[in-house]
Amino acid sequence: MTRTRTMEAALIFLSIAHLTAALRCVCQLCTTTNHTCDTGADGACWSSVMLVDGMEKTDRSCMSPAEMKAENVYCFSSRMPNVVKRNCCKTDFCNNETLHIHPGSFDNSDNKSKKATTWGRLELALVILVPSCLLCVGIVVGVFAILGQGCAYNRTHKQDAEEALGDQMLMSTDKCLKDLIYDMSTSGSGSGLPLLVQRTIARTIVLQESIGKGRFGEVWRGKWRGEDVAVKIFSSRDERSWFREAEIYQTIMLRHENILGFIGADNKDNGSWTQLWLVSEYHEHGSLFDYLNRYTVSVEGMIVYAVSIASGLAHLHMEIIGTQGKPAIAHRDIKSKNVLVKKNGTAVIADLGLAVKHDSNTNTIDIPSNHRVGTKRYMAPEILDETINMRSFETFKRADIYALGLVFWELARRCSVRGLHEDFQLPYYDLVPSDPSIEDMRKVVCDQKLRPNIPNQWQSCEALRVMGKLMRECWYANAAARLTALRVKKTISQVIVIKDIKD
Ligand code: ADP
Ligand code: MG
Repeated sequence: MTRTRTMEAALIFLSIAHLTAALRCVCQLCTTTNHTCDTGADGACWSSVMLVDGMEKTDRSCMSPAEMKAENVYCFSSRMPNVVKRNCCKTDFCNNETLHIHPGSFDNSDNKSKKATTWGRLELALVILVPSCLLCVGIVVGVFAILGQGCAYNRTHKQDAEEALGDQMLMSTDKCLKDLIYDMSTSGSGSGLPLLVQRTIARTIVLQESIGKGRFGEVWRGKWRGEDVAVKIFSSRDERSWFREAEIYQTIMLRHENILGFIGADNKDNGSWTQLWLVSEYHEHGSLFDYLNRYTVSVEGMIVYAVSIASGLAHLHMEIIGTQGKPAIAHRDIKSKNVLVKKNGTAVIADLGLAVKHDSNTNTIDIPSNHRVGTKRYMAPEILDETINMRSFETFKRADIYALGLVFWELARRCSVRGLHEDFQLPYYDLVPSDPSIEDMRKVVCDQKLRPNIPNQWQSCEALRVMGKLMRECWYANAAARLTALRVKKTISQVIVIKDIKD
């Protein structure tokens, strides 16, 4: 398995290393009059064919160098040869070939077809019939394997069914999203669903209602095969943000129970403009900000939210070393509006649009970072007064921790103990105007060194006392003295243990 992956990686590397000059390719989706596109230097042309409801759907376009880097699974069809075939190539208009799903029906090679016409009828029949029969038997066995398992995926059969699942995932009608994603995250590249599957899912979503607005575009609730999904729609002006967020969500091994579950990205051209979609799991309670505005939480509820947010952040921040590892990631926009509340009483971190990845080999950050991104109210003192050391990745993590402390403060205020709690407020609500400038924030946070008030009554409840102490340790002006996300997570988890022992 590892060897195959290494070989695939080597193949990808070799094919990418080959590419140099810009290419012109056939582009079915492009609105240009002659339906062509340019790849830019080091790009490639691609063509694909996919079985959708038993019909072959073809697609052809360009891949930019950036796309080739981020979507290296894209040029390989080996995982699902019966459902999707794709081809990347590197000469002008080379993607004009016609691919077919069924063996024997390729017509992309002149030589092959010329040879075929000179073959005898018996040879020809054998060449076509034998693979076709084998394929049919394979498909029937695969379909039965999937139907037998239903929606609740049985881990013990994972090995045997892995290939069949990959092949059949689009054709199987009773697969729920959770299982599709689980199948791919355990058998695929570890970075999510293949791009064509993402696209197919996105194009069969029916939008229902607008549920939120943020920095970029609008978030909608949509339906896919009866299941709710969230669709973040970016305008074509914000293409870079769309691409960036999709890229971050597809970071290998990012998937975690406390990070918003990414389903897919799609760029849909409707003739006059391009709509850019990010599809994710839908959480009907919306953001923690919305939730705390409406409801109070119990002590247990507060602890579980706090543990899950800290766990999500600890996972983001952590570097996992190895071929199936993940880089350390800093979020850079932690706030209650970017945390979503799940139905089971836990929370997930969302909106990874401003996140940055750390390359520990070169000790560099993956994108040129401008220092004052994020939400002013939640900016750490070193960002407000521009003393942040942009060369050290640790500083970005420490700024996240400061913001995490502010989210904990919003959460703890809504914790109801013996019927007592505070109203919902944003951090520094009593010290700055409703849409504060950087200067407003800097005066309060850096010059006056003020922090949100920790009420005295929190001392009489163990969990609130611990939360108050944690917040202070997240808010130190000296960023190096702040706790790490892992430390925060462990400290609150201990409150659960102590509580359990007392009970
Ligand atoms: P932006 O980058 O524009 O800030 P976000 O991803 O933060 O966009 O989403 C904006 C708002 O949309 C959130 O604060 C939340 O209220 C809502 N929202 C986003 N994603 C989901 C989701 N998966 N389920 C439910 N609501 C969501
Ligand atoms: Mg947001």
